[in-house]
Amino acid sequence: MSAAAPPDTRTVANVIAGEERAAAGGETFEKLAPGTGELLSRVARSRAEDVDAAVAAAQAAQPAWGAETVAERGRVLREIAKLLERDVDEVAAVVAAETGKAPKEARGEVGAAIEQGYFQAGEGRRFFGRTTTSAVPNRQAMTIRQPIGVAGLIIAANTPIANVAWKVFPALVCGNAAVLKASEDAPETANVFARLAAEAGLPAGVLNVVHGFGPEAGQPLVEDPRVPVISFTGSTAVGRMINRTAGERLAKVCLELGGKNPLVVCDDGDLDRAAEAAALSAFSNAGQRCAAGSRIIVFDAVYEDFKSRLLDRASAQRVGTSDDHDFGPVINERQLENMLAVVTRAREAGAEILCGGERLSGPEHDGGFFMAPTLIEGVGLRDEAACVEMFGPISTVHRVSDFEGAVHAANDSPYGLTSAIWTASVHRGQEFLRRVRTGVGAVNGATYGSEPHMPFGGLGDSGTGWREPGPEAIDVYSEIKTVYVNHDPSAV
Ligand code: NAD
Repeated sequence: MSAAAPPDTRTVANVIAGEERAAAGGETFEKLAPGTGELLSRVARSRAEDVDAAVAAAQAAQPAWGAETVAERGRVLREIAKLLERDVDEVAAVVAAETGKAPKEARGEVGAAIEQGYFQAGEGRRFFGRTTTSAVPNRQAMTIRQPIGVAGLIIAANTPIANVAWKVFPALVCGNAAVLKASEDAPETANVFARLAAEAGLPAGVLNVVHGFGPEAGQPLVEDPRVPVISFTGSTAVGRMINRTAGERLAKVCLELGGKNPLVVCDDGDLDRAAEAAALSAFSNAGQRCAAGSRIIVFDAVYEDFKSRLLDRASAQRVGTSDDHDFGPVINERQLENMLAVVTRAREAGAEILCGGERLSGPEHDGGFFMAPTLIEGVGLRDEAACVEMFGPISTVHRVSDFEGAVHAANDSPYGLTSAIWTASVHRGQEFLRRVRTGVGAVNGATYGSEPHMPFGGLGDSGTGWREPGPEAIDVYSEIKTVYVNHDPSAV
């Protein structure tokens, strides 16, 4: 059987020091298939004792790994990427089973993880520092990068293999060992990655995976004084707690959090293409993207015209788990219920649900966690539906009178992750990019996530200023040391 065989009803264990281990307490929890609600696997329910063992394994393995040349570490990363490429269909099958997304989507996501692997493997031949002048004669001044130690990596399940790749590859190329607290919603995906990493020659203990719930298996990692860098992808609420806890012990904390991303449609924009981009931004991956275009802001002059084009596209969305569908279920029942509750409250407060707003039922959907594509009109920018991230296929639509109003609306959010504007004017586009308070901006495009070689991250409630992936990820996972070499000691 391939290392990446899709899970049936099986047990997903922790991976500690190269061994698959049940949780020390013997407990498990159930992982359900989002498309059917059926049991997919029983997963190790780890607690502090398991995290302690994983951190100890990482700490023991890190010095030797950190002492390898960066080129050698890059070579191992490249082998992992090659194995992901070899097993792309099997890995995608695991991702599809755990998330409910279509196989084609899942393969695309594995492709993104592979690209990330190759890119970060290339750091093995870059890993740049800075060489500069000195005010002192006969002295060379420069910076070099060093490993930090054990990296604690905590991730969400929305794009599970890509989320693993974003953190594990740069953490490892920098010479750290890692403890990955996998998402409880995509546990097997993390184990598949760990198995391929072992097959690629990554020494035991350099990458450890613990499963379980945040407060039980994530919190102990965040609190552990042997873990000097914590990198977290998840909700703003949890990120805030992590920042408090890890910040208290002065760990380095990289937070990639939520978004409520604006997509602006101006009166000179290409309305058809803008509607296409808005639908893609709002609904792809069932809206479970931190970069989802969840606030659509439209000039008054084209509002009704654009709205009808967008509604056409929303009603044409096919929801299900096959390659014939546009998007699949959300990850679990709790998330679906949260969204439905927000829609109910918005409706009660006078908002108009233009389409969707309900759970999908019928032979294709019964048992699964399917939300209809939903557009909401008539909510204020500070109302719950417009300013709390729902992480589902739901967007609010807002009317503004002009460009100033659009910039104001785009920035009227606690978040600041991504943004987009549709306009034929170069000046408007540039002006928007200059003034919008987000970490990513696009002209005439969807609200994007990231290309593997580009930095991604946000302002305000979207993060603490660090950027992953790209070369910027190396800044998260390396310690910069400034070194002075006096090459004529007699002159010192
Ligand atoms: P979540 O915050 O509930 O959980 C994320 C991870 O944190 C999980 O592994 C969870 O077990 C863990 N966790 C929960 N409580 C914890 C605690 N007290 N201590 C330590 N770990 C804890 O988020 P989610 O619902 O799984 O994911 C959706 C969120 O992720 C959305 O807000 C989305 O925007 C965000 N996200 C952000 C990015 C980005 O790059 N900015 C990318 C993907 C997802």
